[in-house]
Amino acid sequence: MHLFRRARVPLACLPPPLNRPDGADAALEPWRECDVAVDGGRISAVRDSGAAGGGGFGGRTTDLGGVLVFPGLLEVHTHLDKCHTWDRAPGVHGDFWESLGILASDSARWSEADVHRRADFALRSAWAHGTVALRTHIDTGRDVGAGALAAVGRLREEWRGRIEIQTVCLFRFADFFGGQADRIVGLAASHGAAAMGGFPQPNPDLPRQLDSIMAAARELGIGLDLHVDESAIAHAECLRATAEAVLRNKFPHPVACGHNCSLSVQSPERARETIALVKAAGIGIICLPLTNLHLQGRVRGPAPGGTGFGPPLTPQWRGLTLLHEFIDAGVTVACGGDNVRDAFIGWGDFDPVEVYVESVRVAHLDARLAFSPSVVTTGPAAIMGLPGYGMIAPGSPADMVVFSARKLYSLLARPSIARRLVHGEEFREARLPDYGEQEGWPDA
Ligand SMILES: [Zn+2]
Repeated sequence: MHLFRRARVPLACLPPPLNRPDGADAALEPWRECDVAVDGGRISAVRDSGAAGGGGFGGRTTDLGGVLVFPGLLEVHTHLDKCHTWDRAPGVHGDFWESLGILASDSARWSEADVHRRADFALRSAWAHGTVALRTHIDTGRDVGAGALAAVGRLREEWRGRIEIQTVCLFRFADFFGGQADRIVGLAASHGAAAMGGFPQPNPDLPRQLDSIMAAARELGIGLDLHVDESAIAHAECLRATAEAVLRNKFPHPVACGHNCSLSVQSPERARETIALVKAAGIGIICLPLTNLHLQGRVRGPAPGGTGFGPPLTPQWRGLTLLHEFIDAGVTVACGGDNVRDAFIGWGDFDPVEVYVESVRVAHLDARLAFSPSVVTTGPAAIMGLPGYGMIAPGSPADMVVFSARKLYSLLARPSIARRLVHGEEFREARLPDYGEQEGWPDA
């Protein structure tokens, strides 16, 4: 038993009745100072630090002195099969379709050993930043997927008890309906995928395609986690089609949709209807601000000679989905990091604190600060189906991120501020892997 005293826990990560504001400045500093008791690998009790009748916990006590404490963090959407390929396969134009092609070529090298090496580096980074659960999409099709799924399956065992790892089989609908359905479904089944993924494109056959994919997922007893509408094309309405398909099929398993960028270029009336359908269908919405800021709204002037890429122009549209409108409608939302150091984006570090801070800044989540921590805690936990995760509550995993900051606005001002990590009853080591290690990789 270890009692951590005076932890300022975000209200969004506390159980009732502790999750209610207790001070005049709760709008600006929405946390409550709590004493958190840990017994083995679980949190056993949480009480207001100011509550009468101290003691009674027994065991060791550490006084944190009133610093900000988040629960272990969740990464809801990333790509471990693609990460850390930037040095050998960079996407220097930041062009979505060009980068997709570069990664498709690189995928010939995604053996089990190659993916294991890169993904393990990624997980060590995520763990050093305080991550306790991570969902990765894995490209799955005729020539790709088996090595990566085997590698991540091994990693799932190697990291058990530290990071909970979920896989989603990601495929092009054209491949699924072009003869690869059995292979994709077979790989999802044999590797214990948490959800069927997929990358639908607007087309007249989309409703029928979604019906078929839902039938396949229903057969496997799993949900869906799709990449949808990652563009500024107003008629891209795969999110709406997915919501209609969930309702039409009475699909019983969890469904999440990532990106949803084009919703924000549609008319307000149309977007409102789609959001209502999403709510009715119970779909979780995943916003990926870091990659969408990088890839969306990327415009260039005319290319010299009419070929290649013209000079860069200043981005205007930044590619966010309608996060506030979804929250107002009562839809579960989460923010994720998406690609890390692959052809889509040359940076990223599997750090949910970076995702959190940037999401607050670019999506104006300061306007709902009390809610904001949930985008990397309770939101992802709900979408990933991990009860107790993302909370500091009795029964939750005893993982905590202890910041040197005493206030949320101090963390937002200085995201690099020191963190200490609690795992079980102990503070644990948090050492980031060195990039020098990558220079020794066989194909560096
Ligand atoms: Zn993605």
